[in-house]
Amino acid sequence: MKRIGVLTSGGDAPGMNAAIRAVVRKAIYHDIEVYGIKYGYQGLMEGNIEKMEIGSVGDIIHRGGTIIYSARSEEFKTDAGQEKGIEQLKKFGIEGLIIIGGDGSFRGAQKLTEKGYPCIGIPGTIDNDIAGTDFTIGFDTALNTIIEAIDKVRDTATSHKRTYIIEVMGRDAGDLALWAGLADGAESILIPEVKDEFDEVIERLKRGHERGKKHSIIVLAEGVGSGFDYGKRIEETSDLETRVTVLGYIQRGGSPTASDRVLASRLGGYAVDLLRKGEAGRMVGIQNNKLVNHDILEILAQPHTIDKDMYQLSKELSI
Ligand code: ATP
Repeated sequence: MKRIGVLTSGGDAPGMNAAIRAVVRKAIYHDIEVYGIKYGYQGLMEGNIEKMEIGSVGDIIHRGGTIIYSARSEEFKTDAGQEKGIEQLKKFGIEGLIIIGGDGSFRGAQKLTEKGYPCIGIPGTIDNDIAGTDFTIGFDTALNTIIEAIDKVRDTATSHKRTYIIEVMGRDAGDLALWAGLADGAESILIPEVKDEFDEVIERLKRGHERGKKHSIIVLAEGVGSGFDYGKRIEETSDLETRVTVLGYIQRGGSPTASDRVLASRLGGYAVDLLRKGEAGRMVGIQNNKLVNHDILEILAQPHTIDKDMYQLSKELSI
């Protein structure tokens, strides 16, 4: 393989730049040219493609976001859209593609692979909702951003007797809420994978209140519902006062943590190795600190699960 492309797609995640850097440098090291495709599949269809050099990825390892930008494209989900993309790949002589993104992006990668263009997926999403890898790029940074924010809420919380609800990202996956809740000693963690346990939450809050606890923290994943609605529900059912903080997009930003930079560099380099070996339709990941790769179709067929032991532990620690 003499020429490959790289694109970032779907929601951006801190560490994507470190992955792009690794792809570009590793490929150039092995005498492979790299083309950066801007704005994901949208840019691919439009031919928004530029050659990248060693220097193109200088000074980006510590930056959040993605220097080649990201996008979502409905058109690319159609056969006609994918054919448009393939035309551009042919025009630029690109023989293989590395896609950094979430599960939607991998569906696109699979479609291109089926149409004869070898693609390798790198899991880049703060949600940590992809099977076949213990961690996705961006999760650790987002988690640390959340923890920093909760610590600050805690500082002000000690001055009042209130219940604080922190709404974090995670429409279908509760990993961010679970890890942040455990790391910050939350009283309750509300995640989409577990059915509503409102009575239990109220019981726990009341117990804490009765034993003189000054404040309580609830971490809620957005997939469970609005933090404001949950707060209202608590106030209607008890005499507890609530305050809600929705963290929103700050969770997507910021300089990637050391863990994310190392993970992104390892996965980026490994993805290039797989393309060089002639692999296609694979997703790279990390399991038990070893680099692994899986068939994308198999990964997409697996439902996301949370660590049930960790969830149970969080309950036992917040009696
Ligand atoms: P995140 O987890 O951050 O949302 P994602 O990769 O899952 O990231 P999506 O919006 O689901 O984000 O997908 C990104 C893009 O991948 C879509 O906008 C679309 O262009 C492409 N894509 C998604 N599903 C398909 C599909 N079935 N066939 C072809 N392309 C697809």
